[in-house]
Amino acid sequence: MLLQTLREEVLAANLELVRHGTVLYTFGNVSGIARRDGLIAIKPSGVPYEMLTPEAIVVTDLAGSVVDGALNPSSDLRTHLELYNHFPSIGGVAHTHSDHATAWAQAQCQIPCFGTTHADYFHGPVPVTPPLTKDEIAGDYERATGQAICRRFASLDPDEIPAVLVAGHGPFCWGASATAAAHHAVILEYLARMASATLAINPNARAIGPALHDKHFLRKHGPSAYYGQAPATPSLKA
Ligand SMILES: [Zn+2]
Repeated sequence: MLLQTLREEVLAANLELVRHGTVLYTFGNVSGIARRDGLIAIKPSGVPYEMLTPEAIVVTDLAGSVVDGALNPSSDLRTHLELYNHFPSIGGVAHTHSDHATAWAQAQCQIPCFGTTHADYFHGPVPVTPPLTKDEIAGDYERATGQAICRRFASLDPDEIPAVLVAGHGPFCWGASATAAAHHAVILEYLARMASATLAINPNARAIGPALHDKHFLRKHGPSAYYGQAPATPSLKA
């Protein structure tokens, strides 16, 4: 089987979303990339999670052509491809319609950093894209979704902000691997839920400000990071 290890990781990352309640039915998809081979492994379209096996994970090239696998890839494949092509450091992409993150996407509001849990993972608010235009929706919709994300990140660093809310749709997350991307999808849902709760308690709540935000982000990421133990799981940069 081509890319067996990557397929197994992608399968496990997809199941991680189920385990944490971030997907319903067949919603959601995770992929991972083998940069040296120029190939990605992605969940098949419309297959129940309980029936997924490593063989069911579809391998495509970076143009979206299936290279190995009997099933059709996720219908969001072209969004994933746009992200891999424009964010060269990422190794995995995860998409969900998780409740709270999707509510923020539907409200078309970025998620402010109200606390250190957010700051540990995101060096800034979680941004939201502008809505897609009629032509973008009628045309190559999934690719246009990816392009909207990439445009939103023109002045943002995808390594420092590993997720976005697509307006009227839901979150796309990424990371150094499929495992990390799924982890970020789960964390994002937690942050979105906490942000909603924070505003319910105090509608005037404010973001924590750069001193605390930078402290928490930079102690876990970058050259001066000191959080945790010596790296044992390099694929999970969190
Ligand atoms: Zn979706």
